[in-house]
Amino acid sequence: MIQSETKQCQNCKQDFTIEPDDFAFYDKIKVPAPTFCPDCRYQRRAANRNEWNFYKRNCSLCGKSMVSIYNSSYPGPVYCQPCWWSDKWDPMAFGQDFDFFRPFFEQFFEFRHKVPRIALANSQSANSEYSNQSERNKNCYMVVASGESEDCMYGNWYQKSKDCVDSWATKECEIMYESLNCGDCYKCFFIEDCHDANDLYFSMDCPGCNNCFGCVGLRGKSYCWFNEQLTKEEFQKRLTEISWAYEDVQKMKKRVADFWVKHPRRYYQGRKAINSTGENIGYDKNVRYGFNVRFSENTSYAQDAWEARDCMDLTETLDNELDYEMEGSGWGAKCIGMAKSWYNHDSHYSELNFNCHDIFGCMSLRKKSYCIFNKQYSEKEYHILKEKIIEHMRKTKEWGEFFPIAISPFPYNDTIAQDYFPLTKNEVIARGWEWFDRDARDYKVTLPHEKLPAKIGDVTDSILQEIISCSSQDSEKEKASHLRCATAFRLHPAELQFYRRFNLPIPHKCSACRLQERLARRNPRKLWHRQCMCDKNHPHHTGRCPNEFETSYFPDRPEIVYCESCYQAEVA
Ligand SMILES: [Zn+2]
Ligand SMILES: [Zn+2]
Ligand SMILES: [Zn+2]
Ligand SMILES: [Zn+2]
Ligand SMILES: [Zn+2]
Repeated sequence: MIQSETKQCQNCKQDFTIEPDDFAFYDKIKVPAPTFCPDCRYQRRAANRNEWNFYKRNCSLCGKSMVSIYNSSYPGPVYCQPCWWSDKWDPMAFGQDFDFFRPFFEQFFEFRHKVPRIALANSQSANSEYSNQSERNKNCYMVVASGESEDCMYGNWYQKSKDCVDSWATKECEIMYESLNCGDCYKCFFIEDCHDANDLYFSMDCPGCNNCFGCVGLRGKSYCWFNEQLTKEEFQKRLTEISWAYEDVQKMKKRVADFWVKHPRRYYQGRKAINSTGENIGYDKNVRYGFNVRFSENTSYAQDAWEARDCMDLTETLDNELDYEMEGSGWGAKCIGMAKSWYNHDSHYSELNFNCHDIFGCMSLRKKSYCIFNKQYSEKEYHILKEKIIEHMRKTKEWGEFFPIAISPFPYNDTIAQDYFPLTKNEVIARGWEWFDRDARDYKVTLPHEKLPAKIGDVTDSILQEIISCSSQDSEKEKASHLRCATAFRLHPAELQFYRRFNLPIPHKCSACRLQERLARRNPRKLWHRQCMCDKNHPHHTGRCPNEFETSYFPDRPEIVYCESCYQAEVA
């Protein structure tokens, strides 16, 4: 019988627990137990990923200007999409031998800077130049970690969705605005945690509902207004009376938040999570410490990972099996330490590879196998050399660890690590990591946001020419908390059309600030052990409910947090 074990994290020096299930997994894939705690492991993967910071630079092959996630400080070659995917160059020309006198990561760091990388991870997409870590999108603008979506803007984790703007984690949704964590919804605005719903406004956890406004915790209802049942006529009358002027929408958000907080909520957002812990989880079985993990089983310590089976330590992945320490990789199996690699199996410590198997320490390969550091071997030679390198990496204590932050291709503040584990410039430099000072923005504002028309009806097409100031620049306090602020922004024509179609006011903040505020609406990606707050009498308890759970609502928060049974007894 394996016991759980407490270890000290080599990075943050805090104690962490390795569970018996964890050990079973490490044994199965033959890696030693990790030396970093789950949070530091997440930070390490996140620091390998720039989602949102786009730069203009020239393709190192054809010389054309392009949009890229690599800023001017990146020293290696970066190719535009057509060049990278073309036969005009051969990644195998960079092949090199493995040096058994040096650590693996040191060699990979140098190798990474030699082999051309792709400007953005954005394949098989049409008319979606500003999308990253995405696939098979059409007419999308500023979307990341999204796939098979159309006409979407300013968001992340859009899957098979259409006409979504300023939203996060939508699956098969159409016409969504400022919404989070939804599936199979149609025409919804400012909603959270809903599915199979349509025509909802400012509502949370209202599955199967339609035509509701300001509601929380309803099931299969129609024409409700702040959880009060109205007639269809009364509902429609009130809806036409709503002012969609900018300031009124801001006040409505506040009023709704005050209303939602008075209602008990389940200890996690999501649904059908069997024997699982985390937040934004659904259709899961045996998932531990999952954040935005769905349709998964037997998977732990994963963030933004869907369709994972028997995996650990995934960040931003899709459809993985028996994978460990992966970032931005999917549709694969039996891999360790892969970054931005798709459709691979039985591969290790490689980056930007597509449709490969049995590769180790490789970069920018397509349809290859039995390669190490981009050098071709026979199947037999490959396996012998691979085992030798693994032995070497066990001695250097690299085997089973993800790429260290110090060798990330991105400066820390360009990565999503800065979103989840924010650090100051001094802190980053003190750790030996890279920081990037962006050139000061000198946009000439032509329209201060205060002068924006309050209602969309008063906006003319000339607004498309304006450079609008971002309201985060108004106060020092907001400036300090919105470090990615672009300071000013323009409206995209499709965006203006969307606001007009649904009578929505023009935002006063740039898309970077909107993203930051949207993601901050979610709970932190941590769990606390708590007891159910219900003190009503329910069939399973009198007095305070004894049930305990892991929740991302930390103890001092104002929400009334219930266990599943008490919650189900309360929602109607
Ligand atoms: Zn740690
Ligand atoms: Zn090019
Ligand atoms: Zn801003
Ligand atoms: Zn309870
Ligand atoms: Zn109860």
